[in-house]
Amino acid sequence: MKKISRRVFIATGTAALAVACGQQKEDKEVPVKEQGEINLYSSRHYNTDNQLYENFTKSTGIKVNLVEGKADQLIERIKSEGENSPADILITVDAGRLWRATEAGIFAPIASKTLKERIPAYLRDPEDRWYSFSKRLRVVMYSKKLVNPNQLSTYEDLANPKWRGKIIVRPSSSTYSQSLVASLIEANGLGATQKWCQGFVANFARPPQGNDRAQIEGVASGVGDLGLANTYYLPRYGRSSDPAKNAIFNSVGVFFPNQGDRGAHVNVSGGGVVKTAPNKEGAIKFLEYLTSKEAQEFFAVGNDEYPVVAGTKIDKYLQDFGKFKEDNINVAAYGAKLGEAVKVMDRAGWK
Ligand code: FE
Repeated sequence: MKKISRRVFIATGTAALAVACGQQKEDKEVPVKEQGEINLYSSRHYNTDNQLYENFTKSTGIKVNLVEGKADQLIERIKSEGENSPADILITVDAGRLWRATEAGIFAPIASKTLKERIPAYLRDPEDRWYSFSKRLRVVMYSKKLVNPNQLSTYEDLANPKWRGKIIVRPSSSTYSQSLVASLIEANGLGATQKWCQGFVANFARPPQGNDRAQIEGVASGVGDLGLANTYYLPRYGRSSDPAKNAIFNSVGVFFPNQGDRGAHVNVSGGGVVKTAPNKEGAIKFLEYLTSKEAQEFFAVGNDEYPVVAGTKIDKYLQDFGKFKEDNINVAAYGAKLGEAVKVMDRAGWK
């Protein structure tokens, strides 16, 4: 019998899906689930991911239908699609967003032995609703011309008046910023973090603005002596064929804070299986694939993210950043502190 491919059209909320970090989205067709297909809702914004999904299809025969959008909008969309949601998997960046998806009740707990064996416990939901597949460290990126790294020590020290007028950051609306402040609340308590935030904000060189790239470029051009950014953004400047970008790469140093105590702040990209997934089995296979040697190397070499599986090869950029100690508190802990983090930032005047 001839197979007829049925497709449904699902409006995504049009311009609302214009996406972080520069790409844009439009209404998309989401194929109704067929044998051997999974529908992947993703807010990851990296060009190299498509190759990763093609590799999965090659090795399993399962086709990946990708729906991209902003995390919060994808979460809302899955909620509003309800029982009939075609979504099998939601993948996103930032521990805070994974927590929000969990709070929205969209993930099914997946007790996969493979995932538990390969992913360290601090990088997955204690109740198995989501798993991290790559790490990014939110570190100090400093001007090699203006800063001697010996002056740097901890996130806490960034509130020291010696940095007055020298620090540039993203707005407080960035979940990356919120998760970092949540980690400080977790480590030092609410009162100490409020006090820290006051001093930190007093050290800003300009009103918070732009994305991580804008902080790196601001440091390179001397607008700030140092900024906060995720590790994977800097190698993009090194890889570029544009000499101006290479110059930026060469003028910015990476410093991993808190090496003498809890370690540098870890954030993650991760995902889980949607509670109503039409193809749960395929979805689990996909998540397990993301922990394979091939996929883990792909995150590391293709997108300069740190792998979650020990022993994975990393590229020259990550090697050059050097070894570091990372904060290995369970990243799920940040979520519960996000509300407090936003209030702390507000009160301190972090716009
Ligand atoms: Fe990012």
